[in-house]
Amino acid sequence: MKQVLAFMLVVVLMLVSIAATAHQVAGAIPVAASNTLPPSVAHFDADVATNAYLAQLSPEAKAKSDAYFEGGYWLMLWDLLWALGVAWLLLGTRLSVRVRDRVERLTRFRWLQTMIYAVPYLVLTTVLTLPLTFYEGYVREHQYGLSNQDVGQWLGDQAKSLMVTLIFGTVLLAMIYAVIRKAGRTWWIWAAGIGVAFVIFSTTIQPVYIDPLFNTYKSLPDTPLKAEILSMARANGIPAANVYEYDASRRSSVVSANVSGLFGTTRINLNDNLINRSTIAQIEGVLGHEMGHYVLNHYYKFILALGVIIVIVFALVNWSLGWMLRSWGARWGIRDAGDVAGMPLLVALLTLFFFISTPARNTVTRTIETEADIFGLNAAREPDGVAQVYVALSKSRKMCPSPAEEFIFFDHPSGWNRIHRAMVWKGEHLGDPDIRAQDATAPLGAR
Ligand SMILES: [Zn+2]
Repeated sequence: MKQVLAFMLVVVLMLVSIAATAHQVAGAIPVAASNTLPPSVAHFDADVATNAYLAQLSPEAKAKSDAYFEGGYWLMLWDLLWALGVAWLLLGTRLSVRVRDRVERLTRFRWLQTMIYAVPYLVLTTVLTLPLTFYEGYVREHQYGLSNQDVGQWLGDQAKSLMVTLIFGTVLLAMIYAVIRKAGRTWWIWAAGIGVAFVIFSTTIQPVYIDPLFNTYKSLPDTPLKAEILSMARANGIPAANVYEYDASRRSSVVSANVSGLFGTTRINLNDNLINRSTIAQIEGVLGHEMGHYVLNHYYKFILALGVIIVIVFALVNWSLGWMLRSWGARWGIRDAGDVAGMPLLVALLTLFFFISTPARNTVTRTIETEADIFGLNAAREPDGVAQVYVALSKSRKMCPSPAEEFIFFDHPSGWNRIHRAMVWKGEHLGDPDIRAQDATAPLGAR
């Protein structure tokens, strides 16, 4: 445990130093002071403006979203314990060994044995986890009014997810077991490489092959909104030729958008909630953020940072797998690390160490999201638009967490921080005619 914490600390310190360097660079650029503020806006206070936005939420609504989000902290733990319990069941009952013995009679090719073993393994773990998945993804989402799917639709989505998992999971596991058998003591380095390559592969094909399985995408008709979005894209160096709308409203009312694609497949996607429920200012504010991810190369930075975490996780799995097999291998009937009967153990250890890496992974994404927020404010110049969106998104997020809570559990900055950043930006731009005009037409707390 000490070693895990030491590794975590190194990752965290690296991330903090990267963040600190970024802040120093930003701080070195002089900010032009606006001396020409009219008296009415000279007293703009970002704290007061932020609190005015938060005051739009009733105490009941705030209590509800806090309860939803805080419950999520515990669910992460229950998810882990459940997954470890399922692994223990498969190993302890020797079900895993029995499946392996059968698979070994079917073929002598070991890579094929792994793939065949992986099919009942993935189906069984999905089925055994279904009660918890159903509570988390269906029952609880309805309790908090965050989902409008019926059971049939939800189960349909689960079946599609399982299919995707079966196709890619069997190949991934076969590759990992191949390097465990071939590379010997250095297998974990190769496996981490395969893990990173797999993340790149799946994120590349996802917008084109996976997302359409779950949502219908259609080209946005030629409206002034579309022209405005494409103009914004051109202005920010995004080579997108078209804007798509997808039907997220059949699942929930959450607004969302993304700029997806690599290697010449760039596209801008807006969900129908964003289009149907938002003002132009809100849509542009959201798209400014999404374009920030693209322009600031967040995808590549994310892969690099995640790659570091994946290497550390596999190193820890390697170390603990050896120890576990020496202590429990004979009892569970697992011959060695390359024995496919140990798959539940391997996956359990991966799950455990990825769970422990949660604050590091969240800090990576939270840092990136903060940068995208700042880019979006500069690109769209809609501080009130984005603040309104953050208030709307508060249904499923705790708005005012403690700093430690935000560090551990938040993959985006908290609602308070995001609104506050928008209001600080607004305060620094009140001398600009467009922002002043917005302020006159859309006073704080309106809409
Ligand atoms: Zn983002």
